[in-house]
Amino acid sequence: MAPRKLAAGNWKMNGDLAALEQIDILARDHAAANCDVLICPPALLVHPMAERATGIAVGGQDCHHAASGAHTGDISAEQLRDAGASHVIIGHSERRTDHGETDEMVAAKAVAAHQAGLTTIICVGETEAQRDAGETLDVIASQLAGSVPDCASAKNTVVAYEPIWAIGTGRTPTTDQIAEVHALMRRLMAERFGDGADLSLLYGGSVKPGNAAEIFAIADVDGALVGGASLKASDFGPIVSALD
Ligand code: PGA
Repeated sequence: MAPRKLAAGNWKMNGDLAALEQIDILARDHAAANCDVLICPPALLVHPMAERATGIAVGGQDCHHAASGAHTGDISAEQLRDAGASHVIIGHSERRTDHGETDEMVAAKAVAAHQAGLTTIICVGETEAQRDAGETLDVIASQLAGSVPDCASAKNTVVAYEPIWAIGTGRTPTTDQIAEVHALMRRLMAERFGDGADLSLLYGGSVKPGNAAEIFAIADVDGALVGGASLKASDFGPIVSALD
């Protein structure tokens, strides 16, 4: 089976109740899209967004590895699911950097998310120093090995390649650089989960309406994880259309 195409938006710590009108526009224009369309807003907006986002999937940006308990300020995968989420981003570089999340923690969160019935978007990506040192492929291979749990499958897991130096900077790798990493990810996932295990592989980092079509034309790119350009339907809509 060919990997499913996914246009995923990550609102990060942006947006409020008034911003939910962006979802109405996306639903109006793209609910019938041939690709999956997903928005991951801040946790407080998951429920109200899921209530009005007909045809648009809603996801969280992180979850705890436990289903419940004494973890002040955290949110479990079960709670995300209960609020109407179908997906959760795990191991975004901002979580890895700001909250010290390791591959092991990312894998534990992914297991919890799968147990709750969520699809995980597991993020990997190299720093600029690692790319300059020629370590990119090794870094990606090691992050994938450590972050993607054994219970992963095409049904419950999407992998996002997000070079850290491309996030929010307006800089993107060359098409050859993206193709090289995606080919590696495709090969490693097939080696581990079987040839037919066609996990969707997203590219993320400064995807905009102006470069989306070129990025989606790259082999083994099945969609995008979009930050800044997902906040407004007038930016995200054309990105969805480029994938559709
Ligand atoms: P950006 O963020 O599109 O703003 O570069 C991407 C991401 O961090 O997921």
